[in-house]
Amino acid sequence: MKAIFFNRIHVHHRPYLYHGIIILKVQNHHHNKNDSDEKKKKVVQRLHCCVKKYEWGRAWRDSLVAKLFCMNSESQLEEDEPYAELWMGTHVSGPSSIALEGCERVTLKSWLLQNPNVLGEKVLEKWDGDLPFLFKVLSVDKALSIQAHPDKELAKNLHKLHPNIYKDENHKPEMALAVTQFEALCGFVTLKVVLTVPEVLELVGAENVNLVLQITDEDGEEKVKPILKATFIDIMSESKERVIGVVNRLRSRLHKEMRQLTVKEQLVKRLEKQYPSDVGVIAAFFLNHVKLSPSEALFLGPNEPHAYIYGECIECMATSDNVVRAGLTSKHRDAQTLCSMLTYKQGFPEILGGVAINPYVNRYIPPFEEFEIDSCVLPQGETVLFPAVLGPSIFLVIVGEGVMNTESPKGYQITEGDVLFVATNTKISVSSTSQLHLFRTGVNTRFFQTPRA
Ligand SMILES: [Zn+2]
Repeated sequence: MKAIFFNRIHVHHRPYLYHGIIILKVQNHHHNKNDSDEKKKKVVQRLHCCVKKYEWGRAWRDSLVAKLFCMNSESQLEEDEPYAELWMGTHVSGPSSIALEGCERVTLKSWLLQNPNVLGEKVLEKWDGDLPFLFKVLSVDKALSIQAHPDKELAKNLHKLHPNIYKDENHKPEMALAVTQFEALCGFVTLKVVLTVPEVLELVGAENVNLVLQITDEDGEEKVKPILKATFIDIMSESKERVIGVVNRLRSRLHKEMRQLTVKEQLVKRLEKQYPSDVGVIAAFFLNHVKLSPSEALFLGPNEPHAYIYGECIECMATSDNVVRAGLTSKHRDAQTLCSMLTYKQGFPEILGGVAINPYVNRYIPPFEEFEIDSCVLPQGETVLFPAVLGPSIFLVIVGEGVMNTESPKGYQITEGDVLFVATNTKISVSSTSQLHLFRTGVNTRFFQTPRA
């Protein structure tokens, strides 16, 4: 196993090979006087972030997560490990930290507890001194589990019953913003379409098949939802042996088909290769296959089924790690909970293209109060302004170099992999020394617009 070192700052130096080890020239990040003045005011803090090596992640060479983590933490990369997620925030399962004067490190969470004012009054009051959002980068090589995230009430109950599986009491609405072409399964398709698949028919009970056949175009969602639910439960609660047989028949049927396979069939074939004999292969027929282009986003409310399939994205969510899984996974499954919690809404999900708030910044505003994301692409030699907001922000640089300025005279050098916490009510300007791509996440603007109850 070889270790690969990059180093932060001066990313434009490409890594070079040394005895088979890839090295980027080491150059210390120097703290100038201005840095420490700002530190006293606690306006901007550089964050050191955690990485997650889940099995569905990408090998370091192709992984944005690996690259950013390496630049962010000056850590070495392992050639044989998959790099799946970079976490930026306060969640206990992957807390970001701050380097104080000297070598001392504190977690962002404990630093926020000591410096609550950086959150702003309204956020401090609402979220008890914690950061309400968790910001991530995902590098997906292989499908993630079919999952849904509980609403607040269910999250509380699940955490109480199974604290080891459901790690916190919070809900987890989320949004994925594509950096590359990004594929996902999300929400239910129309039921009648699903029952044209012979292997689905094989698993759904005759009684439910009859109910589906009786559905007419005039029937409203409320009539169809219970039938969809019963049908989905038939699939998800089927015995392992029966599922193996059906998935095998599906595989050989698709293999023998003389016609061009549909997009969904091609997807199902890929999933079967990744997760042979998994019920999720059949469940995929029930869900919309969504393809995002770079800079398109998908948001997921509580209790909506989804699975990320392939690509790289920026993700933001409420600070939580509660996932109920039921297919395409080797992790803990809880099909019963999943089936009972889902909304069973049908139809294609809304895709967000973002709203331009100036020539360089696109804003993505999901219908959740915890977060929003700004994507900023700045050509070389330009400057962009981020007006002060009433809550905390996290900035992440994924491409290029530049300088971030607050209202004090000198700024912070920023480059790929840099993650910066910015306190409430701070005007930020960013100037680029090369083409720069960065993201800002903060509390949803709408949260500050709603009058206090
Ligand atoms: Zn999810």
